Amino acid sequence: MLEIQDLHVYYGAIHALKGVSLTVEAGQVVTLIGANGAGKSTTLRALSGLLRPRTGSIKLEGEELTRLQPEQIVRRGLCHSPEGRRVFANLTVLENLEMGAYTRRDREVKADLEKILATFPRLKERISQPAGTLSGGEQQMLAMGRALMGRPRVLLLDEPSLGLAPFMVKEIFRIIREINAEGTTILLVEQNAHMALAAAHRGYVIETGKIVLADTGQALLHNPEVRKAYLGDD
Ligand code: ATP
Repeated sequence: MLEIQDLHVYYGAIHALKGVSLTVEAGQVVTLIGANGAGKSTTLRALSGLLRPRTGSIKLEGEELTRLQPEQIVRRGLCHSPEGRRVFANLTVLENLEMGAYTRRDREVKADLEKILATFPRLKERISQPAGTLSGGEQQMLAMGRALMGRPRVLLLDEPSLGLAPFMVKEIFRIIREINAEGTTILLVEQNAHMALAAAHRGYVIETGKIVLADTGQALLHNPEVRKAYLGDD
């Protein structure tokens, strides 16, 4: 579904991604885990066209995305729920969700809205409320719902659990599984390696801009190096 090959990204003189390659198969949840500053968000920003890679290739169902503008990438089905949610605080929940569908011209937007509100009943209850008045967990749901309104072939989730209380983290991961079970392919970036690997078919570990390990989620969860570095084992 999504194939990334040898991606190099720079911020000025800083070489942030040093040849990242990864594959996401249709129907899977794939996670990219790593420490602060390893290059996780940079990878997602490059996929969304927010950063231009120096070299490398990004293909969605065989089509090259690397030189496309962000809105063209959304239209092709790569939709990003960014780190820190980035909801429009002064717009209502409904208006934020509608923003997620701004590139769509089809007639099924309304039906998708109903489906998303069924997945996130808390958003339905708060549909007319300004997004800035939502709790952190609710804003996370809104950012995910907004990305789903673009009807993604691959949903990109950047740190959905960041800063949330443990019960809300569990709820967000339950929803991630549900969205995937309904057929959406997901690339999930996380610092919460335990939850992410447990939810993922496949995982990649990134360290200072390079992929250092790739395996099934379960195998990485039991890998001693991963346990030591990311799961707090001695
Ligand atoms: P975090 O979870 O802290 O966001 P991350 O794995 O997502 O970590 P990135 O944000 O992708 O990491 O950062 C990768 C590297 O690029 C880091 O060394 C970071 O300092 C650098 N970097 C990120 N954004 C910028 C920027 N706008 N300008 C310069 N350097 C940046």
